[in-house]
Amino acid sequence: MKEILLKQHIGSFAKAVVKPGDRVRRGSLLAVPEGLGANVHSSVDGLVKEIKEDRIFVEESVEQCDGFEPISGKDILSLIQDAGIVGMGGAGFPTAIKLNIDLKGGYLLVNAAECEPLLQHNMRQILEQPEKTLRGIDYAMQSCKAAKAVIAIKKKHEEEINLLLRTLPDFPNITLHLLPDLYPMGEERAVVREVLGILLPPTALPSEAGAVVINVETCLRIAEAVEEKKPSFLKNITVAGKLKKGKESQVFMDIPVGTTVGELIEMAGGIDGEYGEILLGGPFTGTAVSLSTPITKTSGGILVTEPFPDLKGAKTGVLICACGGNMDRMEDLCKKYNATLTAVQACKQAVDVRGTLKCENPGNCPGQAAKILHFKNKGCTDILIGNCSDCTNTVMGSAPKMNLTVHHQTDHVLKTVGMEPMRYLTKSKTVEQLPVNEEGRQIPFPEEAKKQGSSGGGEERRDSGTLDKKEERKSDTEAFIEEGLFHIRIEEGQDIHIEFS
Ligand code: SF4
Repeated sequence: MKEILLKQHIGSFAKAVVKPGDRVRRGSLLAVPEGLGANVHSSVDGLVKEIKEDRIFVEESVEQCDGFEPISGKDILSLIQDAGIVGMGGAGFPTAIKLNIDLKGGYLLVNAAECEPLLQHNMRQILEQPEKTLRGIDYAMQSCKAAKAVIAIKKKHEEEINLLLRTLPDFPNITLHLLPDLYPMGEERAVVREVLGILLPPTALPSEAGAVVINVETCLRIAEAVEEKKPSFLKNITVAGKLKKGKESQVFMDIPVGTTVGELIEMAGGIDGEYGEILLGGPFTGTAVSLSTPITKTSGGILVTEPFPDLKGAKTGVLICACGGNMDRMEDLCKKYNATLTAVQACKQAVDVRGTLKCENPGNCPGQAAKILHFKNKGCTDILIGNCSDCTNTVMGSAPKMNLTVHHQTDHVLKTVGMEPMRYLTKSKTVEQLPVNEEGRQIPFPEEAKKQGSSGGGEERRDSGTLDKKEERKSDTEAFIEEGLFHIRIEEGQDIHIEFS
């Protein structure tokens, strides 16, 4: 049985256009939007068993065919609309509405940041389907009349970048912009700022910078809608964590929407013993779900975590922000960590925009010392934070000095897979962009630079203007850094934090 949710997008529940007893095929239209929303299609051949206000139950036929019921739109935008495509990075905004704009030669920014730790399905897509992804970008450009498209991708993904560079000559108006390996580089306004150098206010849409931001998997589904007349009923997913097949991320492509979290975990080997929680989404923005939760068009990751740490009732201050868990999530984590929630503060840059926290400048810390002092004055011994890479680093600049023990909301998730907890910033906030040849086309970094990029901390030094200067006067200590024995961060007027790795 597949449970197909009627709200897999921003907006209101879609309205069912089938009734119990109807036979449906893969791709059959199940529901249409009422107001803001998107079409919902069946992901299986089968029989409609039950319709509720928020979902439709389809009993799968024993035999499933490979084909699907095609959509009927005539032009690119109507095909995207008929296909029910929504933002697949998690936001779920209806794509046909987003692209129904005349950018008058502006920019389509393709979000391939995949900035949540552990998720890998976007990069797998680029490796396996680079041409189709680029064709989807080209169709999206035509829809919104963008003159140029820029794919924002983390510099660390060398293989994917080089593959795209080999494919891009067929798409002269598409280029790459390299991002640092920091959270939250995939935030929509962070992408605009990094690529175009424009910092939009939290209330603004990218169109105010002459741009539209679209997720890289959304582009893939656009190509399928335009070329194959295929509705959107499949999702790429990463599964990771406490699994019998190992803790490494496993990627599953083209999973039918409505497949349960439990079915996907079984495909990944099943849960290995006792566990803490199952997250749907990434370590920062995921929500705790059950094995029976169905996936939707916006699901990205399924993470099975270790059991929670026990804070033994410690008086804990919670620092919420716009980029991590919301208040509900942090309260839930306090209970799961056996912490006594004693005080709440919000990051100085997190502002309320129509009931949702938005960051004024995503990933650039405004300083957190006053918030930390507040927790100390309230008698806290511990703090639980959900902050971005930069703000977490700043918290670490003051909290330990006040004898406050820091916990990050991602700790139990990252520990599950053997990753270092979020604490000090060990990576540069700026990266060098790709060189260009005489024709102005982007080309891979020279072999020598690539070699440096793969030798421990070498990439960070090459990317940072500050560290470049240091490189000119190498010392024994810096040689140790090159061998990856430890990372060092030096900032004017700041303490020196040394983190052994
Ligand atoms: S500055 Fe604050 S709200 Fe913005 S990304 Fe960092 S922690 Fe989140």
